[in-house]
Amino acid sequence: LIELDRAHLVHPVASYRGHEKAGVRVIASGAGATITDAAGRRLVDGFAGLWCVNAGYGQQSLVEAATRQMQELPYATGYFGLGSEPAIRLAAALAERAPGDLNHVFFTLGGSDAVDSTIRFIRYYWQAKGQPQRDQFISIEQGYHGSSTVGAGLTALPAFHAGFGVPFDWQHKIPSHYAYRNPVGDDADAIIAASLAALDAKIVEIGGPERVAAFYAEPIQGSGGVLVPPDGWMKAMCDRCRSLGILFIADEVITGFGRTGPLFACTDDGVVPDLMTTAKGLTSGYVPMGAVFLSDAVYATIADAAGTAAVGHGYTYSAHPVSAAVGLEALRLYEDGLLANGVKAGARLMAGLHALRDHPLVGDVRGRGMLAAIELVVDKERKTPLPAAAEPSRRIFDRAWDNGLVIRAFTNGVMGYAPPLCCTDDDIDAILERTARTLDQTLE
Ligand code: PMP
Repeated sequence: LIELDRAHLVHPVASYRGHEKAGVRVIASGAGATITDAAGRRLVDGFAGLWCVNAGYGQQSLVEAATRQMQELPYATGYFGLGSEPAIRLAAALAERAPGDLNHVFFTLGGSDAVDSTIRFIRYYWQAKGQPQRDQFISIEQGYHGSSTVGAGLTALPAFHAGFGVPFDWQHKIPSHYAYRNPVGDDADAIIAASLAALDAKIVEIGGPERVAAFYAEPIQGSGGVLVPPDGWMKAMCDRCRSLGILFIADEVITGFGRTGPLFACTDDGVVPDLMTTAKGLTSGYVPMGAVFLSDAVYATIADAAGTAAVGHGYTYSAHPVSAAVGLEALRLYEDGLLANGVKAGARLMAGLHALRDHPLVGDVRGRGMLAAIELVVDKERKTPLPAAAEPSRRIFDRAWDNGLVIRAFTNGVMGYAPPLCCTDDDIDAILERTARTLDQTLE
């Protein structure tokens, strides 16, 4: 498998590509929060795959839901006015649970095409409103909104931009709230004021609010290193956008479906976005699916325009019945105990990570629920990052792996955690104990 992998399989192009040197590590099976590699070694998956297997591995009812649906009807398109029962029921169930009036759901295959879809919907919305000049989009440094060409332009990763004119000239960014390294310090009010000022300044630079279509925020910035905004930040940014007529988009691809506690993290912040994107936990990674939520007002405007203007959007696998059947069953599992277990396990995880604060390498501990990170530094006073030349993320990932733990090791010395919500106390304790061991070895 290692040889075939090297010769033929193109992996996601990430900043570290362990399979080239060490050979791919083949994951053979999983149960609960544990995965087993091809050699039979068991590891705790502290990252739920790629922050997506929220329900944990081996959930038989998800398997059965998919099997039943494949036997009954493996595929139906949503084009031509057609549809399938699981897709309709999932849309209705999600709408019922979504914040405020986010009552309309468009299904995609994952998060990137969910973000792309919002951009298209928003453009249609402003065109239908007779304000086509509202065509500028703002997102945040350290943000991640997908890897497709358009989504990559909202994403703040230079490596995703090279060579094809991305970000587009209508895509703008303001600095992150990143409390640990914010030039204004870590005071919540100061950070909120700085973000509002940055947004205001960017809007002026673009040519005024009447040029701005939408502002994108993750309730917690995931791929940027699990950056948690201060309480009240989302609400303040959302309110400012509303007052200027700018649409507010919450990207909940990571934070949705219990990752931070509730089904949707923006409810933690008392925010009702105009559009919301989700994926990952929606089907717990068992099958691909994403979903865009649209408010009554946004949907009504687009739907009215659909018959009159050149408005089109959709994918072959939009509202896939098998994915929808799995999504419905995942929702049942979340509400049948997994969300509650995630809250309990998340509290244990956060308490355990905070207890590592005194470790000489731990500069910052942050997170909410089952989404957390510790940021490693060589000098706590100066917050000096680990030396990049030492390939810290590769080494930390490898050490954790050898200790029987899967985490995400970000390039800037951040260790990220997003375990399945089904974690037992023993799973959490194993994550914490193996983290401590990995830190001690990193110190050596
Ligand atoms: N938005 C956010 C906030 C994400 O974290 C991700 C993926 N990590 C995406 C969008 C893109 O999702 P996908 O990889 O499923 O295309």
